[in-house]
Amino acid sequence: MISSNQVFPWQHTLWQGLMQRLHEDRLPHAMLLTGPQGIGKESFAQTFARAVLCEHLSADARPCGACRGCLLNQAGTHPDNHWVGLLEDKKIIGVDQVREISANLNMKAHYSGYKVVVISPAECMNTQAANSLLKTLEEPAPRSLLMLVANNATALPATLRSRCQRITCTLPAQKVAASWLAAQLGPDHDAALLLALASGAPLAALQMAQGGQTSQRLNVLDGMERLLLNQVSPVSLAAIWLKLELKETLYWMHSYIIDMIRLKSAEHPPLLANPDARLRLQALAEQLNLKTFYDQLDKIREASRLAAGQSNAQMLLEDILINWRVPLKIR
Ligand SMILES: [Zn+2]
Repeated sequence: MISSNQVFPWQHTLWQGLMQRLHEDRLPHAMLLTGPQGIGKESFAQTFARAVLCEHLSADARPCGACRGCLLNQAGTHPDNHWVGLLEDKKIIGVDQVREISANLNMKAHYSGYKVVVISPAECMNTQAANSLLKTLEEPAPRSLLMLVANNATALPATLRSRCQRITCTLPAQKVAASWLAAQLGPDHDAALLLALASGAPLAALQMAQGGQTSQRLNVLDGMERLLLNQVSPVSLAAIWLKLELKETLYWMHSYIIDMIRLKSAEHPPLLANPDARLRLQALAEQLNLKTFYDQLDKIREASRLAAGQSNAQMLLEDILINWRVPLKIR
């Protein structure tokens, strides 16, 4: 989660609509927020929960940050605000977790307002948990608000879905997302490319850039080195890389190539996106010419675009990797 009380630019309309319903006391008992991963649904639900429990909701309809409710929420100890998610090392939300919050919802609120429960990712509830929740939904406690957050709503039982008011969150417009991302990352990142690599989901792109999913970064560098040393064929390497996340692989190839272009073009030692790999990248850069690097960038951009669709990933990777070797053969 990025930070508390955040409403992203692409969520303003949805936010205002829900705020209006809150003020008019027309909130449903249960909502289902659905949409692609990495667009801030969880964060939105959390901020909305805090707003619902704020005792002095400010004029711009953000939690005031100073009242008893807000202070308790900031400390994570508000007794009327519950979050149900995946416990560490677990892949499902179990029935015990749901029973606990159902019992909570049926008790009187500790303070005068709502009782709020957010379940995310809701599609991770197992059948027992979903059935248990269904009972709670059939007899909702007064002034209770249940928010289910799901990337894949169809994985939820239809009976559960039909009891929730569906709120569909879509990918933000590319311009809005790219400008937000650029503001978060600064000028050293290609926000538009990152966004493309993250299939248009700005928070996923941010996470990628900030290194939250960088485990295969050095794998990719190892592979590029082995390819240039003829220790692995393009076809074998493509097959190995297919086991990794394609978008991440392409992202890191792009990042390394940009660094190698910097190393080849700069008169003074340039700043790198991968400063820890400077010596290895320098050695690689010396084996290829600039034109090859620029050609590779074009190919990777194209592959990133295609990777969002149903293209053949093996062929995409082979096409890129085979081209890596051509200059060596010519030399
Ligand atoms: Zn407040």
